[in-house]
Amino acid sequence: MPKNNKFIGKLEEKVRKTIKKYNLIDSKDKVLVACSGGKDSTTILYLIKKLGYNVKAITVDLGIGSYSKKNLENLGAFCKENKIKLIKISFKEEFGHTQCYLRDVLKSKGIKLKSCSVCGVLRRYLLNKKARELKATKLITGHNLDDECQAVLMNLFRNTLERSSRLGPISGIVKDKKFVPRVKPLYFCLEKDVEEYSRLMGFPVLYQKCPCSYDVFRNQIKNRLNSYEKRHPQVKEHIITYFLRTLPKLRKIYKQNKEILLCKNCGEPSKKGFCNSCRIISMLKN
Ligand code: SF4
Repeated sequence: MPKNNKFIGKLEEKVRKTIKKYNLIDSKDKVLVACSGGKDSTTILYLIKKLGYNVKAITVDLGIGSYSKKNLENLGAFCKENKIKLIKISFKEEFGHTQCYLRDVLKSKGIKLKSCSVCGVLRRYLLNKKARELKATKLITGHNLDDECQAVLMNLFRNTLERSSRLGPISGIVKDKKFVPRVKPLYFCLEKDVEEYSRLMGFPVLYQKCPCSYDVFRNQIKNRLNSYEKRHPQVKEHIITYFLRTLPKLRKIYKQNKEILLCKNCGEPSKKGFCNSCRIISMLKN
């Protein structure tokens, strides 16, 4: 078997085994893949379709200039070629503003919220809401091993362990009909391997960073992890193996007294009176 075919087969097998071991998807699931048009989500979209699941794609147009435009074009072409229905939603239509506008206005008001935090909160909110409306039973994301490792270390260094209790191959700690379960079939795949797979398959994706990714702390962790990995191969796998051993305990601790409330403004799930999305949007007006 040529080297490339061996690599491709190995990555596909790893994804198939992850789905099986963690029971991420079953044949009756209505699966929605959250796609950005990047290498990770395009790879998992392709693989989920290849594995024969009933799949649709959903994407959020963030309105980040030519970056969003090109990603949407690429994703549209990919879905057309692979006969996958693509559902498009956008920040502009849902919130009245693009991500760039939100970032600039919040900054001008002196609100110290990182661009990625705003984007992440609003995107998760929309994806969950839309997935529920579409009656999807699983929402798949393209998170890979590197993403998870970075999140675990960031939470450790910031002492925000409760956040780590929501990580893992199946995200979240509380089951509720308002939440569509989010699953990560690329959980054990290194980012560099997903990139290699995507390049070998010739997927139409941009390999450049989002121009709004200013999360300095995440980038520091990412660089440090990559340099450790060079000297100590498998360091990322070992972090995740250790993390998965501790996850049941973490979940037990943080699951207590978890009550799902509904946002007083939009009716979506919330930990407090108002959900984080409504809080962010209200900051624009005040
Ligand atoms: S890098 Fe940040 S701003 Fe860009 S798409 Fe990702 S979360 Fe959003």
